[in-house]
Amino acid sequence: MSEFDLIIDLHKNTERQGPGSEKDTLKALGYIDMSGKKDLNVLDIGCGSGGQTLTLAQNIDGHITAVDVFQEFLDELNEKALVDGLIEKITTLKKSMDDLTFDKESIDIIWSEGAIYNMGFEEGVKQWRKYLKPGGYLSVSEATWITNRRPQELEDFWIREYPEIDSASNKIRILEDNGYTLVGYFYLPEESWISNYYRPLEARFASFLQHHNHSEMARQIVEEYQSEIKLYSRFKEYFSYGFYVSRKN
Ligand code: SAH
Repeated sequence: MSEFDLIIDLHKNTERQGPGSEKDTLKALGYIDMSGKKDLNVLDIGCGSGGQTLTLAQNIDGHITAVDVFQEFLDELNEKALVDGLIEKITTLKKSMDDLTFDKESIDIIWSEGAIYNMGFEEGVKQWRKYLKPGGYLSVSEATWITNRRPQELEDFWIREYPEIDSASNKIRILEDNGYTLVGYFYLPEESWISNYYRPLEARFASFLQHHNHSEMARQIVEEYQSEIKLYSRFKEYFSYGFYVSRKN
């Protein structure tokens, strides 16, 4: 098994593959004026196993196309949608976020939680804009500094992992420069990282290691996640995921 396959395996059958919560999804959705809107065409990009997709399907009058590159996650989402009676409202699509082929100005809402970093925030907001109808909404969560000073050690980590991490004001400027108007911003609270993502992940480490016979690669992956969790616990007052809800202008 490749390192990639192992990482997917570690995240399989979990509710989420990144920080977030139903409360956060609903809070972001609350910034979108949905009064009288019916039959909305929604994209959920980098949906994973669909934690937020199900929430969107329950709360929006319309259809959601949930996009991810990993079929395993899409299969899980389809199963959950079936159980929850939402299968009619959700279509899964295996496709890369930088290679989408939707019609221009055909989408009412583009949603993406903890995933746009895969192509980079700026590139994502640029490329996806053409799919939105005028006045359509883009709602994304993205790694964000929540203070204007931070320890060098933390900065070094993020520069290695994702150098596009930035302050909310700089992220909002990128949205404005690319033809969006911000309608709402907040950052994810600690429980969205710990209770909803890191704790369930930690709870899987032992069985994951056992399942892979404590292979060197499996151990290395667990160690990397353990140090990421430690880093979060030490430095959580400096960064989070910012949730940016904006309207195409
Ligand atoms: N939105 C989900 C998953 C976030 S994790 C949640 O918040 O729980 C990031 C997701 O992006 C993973 O499911 C991963 O498979 C997906 N992903 C990674 N690269 C991608 C790409 N190029 N195109 C589409 N999805 C991608």
